[in-house]
Amino acid sequence: MIYTTKTTTDKKGGIAELKVAIDNTHANSTRVKLLNKLAESLYRSAPEEALSYTTEALQLAHQIKYEQGIGDSSNLIGTIHWNQGNFKKAEVAFMEALAMREHIKDVTGTAQSYNALGAIYLAYGVYAKSLDYFIKSLKMREEGGNKVELAKCCNNIGIVYEKLGNHDKSLKYHRRSLEIRKKINNKTGIAYSYSNTGNIFKIKGEYDRALSYYFKSLKVTQDLNDNYGMAHASSLIGEVYCTLGDNAQALQYLSKALDIQEKLGDKAGKAISLNRIGEVHTRKGKYEEAIDYYHRSLAITRRMNAHPLLESVYKNLADAYAYTHKYKSAFEYHVLYSEARAALFNEEKTNAVAQVSSQYEYEKKNREIERLNSEQGLLREAKDELELFAGKVAHDLKEPLRMMSSFGGLLEEKYYADMDNVGKEYISIIKNSSVRMQALLSDLLEFALSGNETQEGKRTDLNDTLLIVKNNLRLCLKESKSNLIINDLPTVNASFSNMIQLFQNLIANAVKFRKEDIAPIIEIGYAEHNNQHLIYVKDNGIGIADKHKEEIFQVFTRGGHDRNKYDGTGIGLATCKKIVKNLNGKIWVESEVGKGSTFNIAIPM
Ligand code: ADP
Repeated sequence: MIYTTKTTTDKKGGIAELKVAIDNTHANSTRVKLLNKLAESLYRSAPEEALSYTTEALQLAHQIKYEQGIGDSSNLIGTIHWNQGNFKKAEVAFMEALAMREHIKDVTGTAQSYNALGAIYLAYGVYAKSLDYFIKSLKMREEGGNKVELAKCCNNIGIVYEKLGNHDKSLKYHRRSLEIRKKINNKTGIAYSYSNTGNIFKIKGEYDRALSYYFKSLKVTQDLNDNYGMAHASSLIGEVYCTLGDNAQALQYLSKALDIQEKLGDKAGKAISLNRIGEVHTRKGKYEEAIDYYHRSLAITRRMNAHPLLESVYKNLADAYAYTHKYKSAFEYHVLYSEARAALFNEEKTNAVAQVSSQYEYEKKNREIERLNSEQGLLREAKDELELFAGKVAHDLKEPLRMMSSFGGLLEEKYYADMDNVGKEYISIIKNSSVRMQALLSDLLEFALSGNETQEGKRTDLNDTLLIVKNNLRLCLKESKSNLIINDLPTVNASFSNMIQLFQNLIANAVKFRKEDIAPIIEIGYAEHNNQHLIYVKDNGIGIADKHKEEIFQVFTRGGHDRNKYDGTGIGLATCKKIVKNLNGKIWVESEVGKGSTFNIAIPM
């Protein structure tokens, strides 16, 4: 279970009183607070009504320029959307809340917004961004005194590490969370710590231990009469029984979970349970029933945009249709599955850009003050304008592009069978061009925005960075049978997202420019020299000719390799150079054609 904001139980009496108080109040800021309070009491049982109250609060807060109220209302709107599974809308609202709370230096609120956004990106499967937000939130909460929130943060970080496959780190954070919760006797929290610890054992294949943690969690939630928790624990127990092949037990626990989730209107939970019940039916060979459950899950999951779940449902549907010999449907869902996987993979990259872009927005205010004080104010202003322009253009171009690509896809889906070969070729050209345009825009935007933000006070453990990069590139590393050797790496004075961009570009290149018949060996390591970190990324690929060694770091310049064989935009290394230059560092390549390349980075310690 991921934590966003605190859960509030509905109190009927309180609601009537609040409504009276709202009618009687003349102070606008009090009215904002009361409207939000009312929405908070209602958001589980009557989300639409809650949304209308908090939207009214937000409008009023804007009218009277009540900044705290704007932040709180936006946050609540985000929570309501989150609960409804409208993640995109929730993301926008949480972003607005964050911007305002940072602006007014509301530390508690800012930490809460970081946490909420971390949860959103976790649901999208964008783990780098998720971890980044959760860690930001953790740092703030470590300084503040609120132990409940601190434990939630540790819990959430544990979940991200679980997704990234780092079980030790994940267990460490769950243990820390459990300890805090036990100390303050936070029972609901304890239940979630149990189930999250169980998840790690489940992944490790230690099903008995996993089940014992899940049952502990179920017991605590039953004692508390916590319906959400009960549904969550039951669903997990059902899943393990399903894996163990005990279909009867699996169905019993999953149906119990689904029942509760239906009553609570917990759409995200429902989507997961429906998919799991489908899996049990698949195991039993009852494919028609399974397909029915998968479709019910899909209807919810599609709206939520939750990629990891979407991926699983598509795959399950493809398999189930194949078992029933409906190969056309099986193929269609297999394509959707592959696309969902690719989207998940690309989204990391696009979101890394979006993150820099949003950070840019937040830091804009600070920079305005700095600019007024600076002698070079005018020059910087022009640069900022240009970056903003680049960001806007790339953003605005992406929308029509997305339409082109999705309608191209629809055209293909509906009319492919009736088309002659020329038509099919045209469709394929449209699709390929939009993919290329998408890549160019993303890379350009990444280049325009990378390495601009101040690195002051930012510390990044490159070991963590490489963990994320490895996860982001897992598909291409696996497909190319690459051996990625990561030696111990230092902590540097740079931002997390910039370091991800840097190493992701270098490692992706090392894989791309590999020799045809030799699996890539890519090694990353470092040494300290003259107060500098000297980091290298070494490969055994095709190498680069001397005459190209400098120019490859410029935008749109490629190193003389066959364009038909190696796709690309020629922007990656220019972005790397920009990032390294912003750290007052240097990047260069040593290479011999046919033997491999070593990209060296020197950054001050
Ligand atoms: P892209 O990969 O999109 O072409 P980059 O800016 O990342 O753009 O790289 C520029 C050029 O540098 C590549 O086209 C390629 O010729 C060369 N290059 C980069 N990395 C490597 C590598 N590891 N091995 C060989 N050539 C490389």
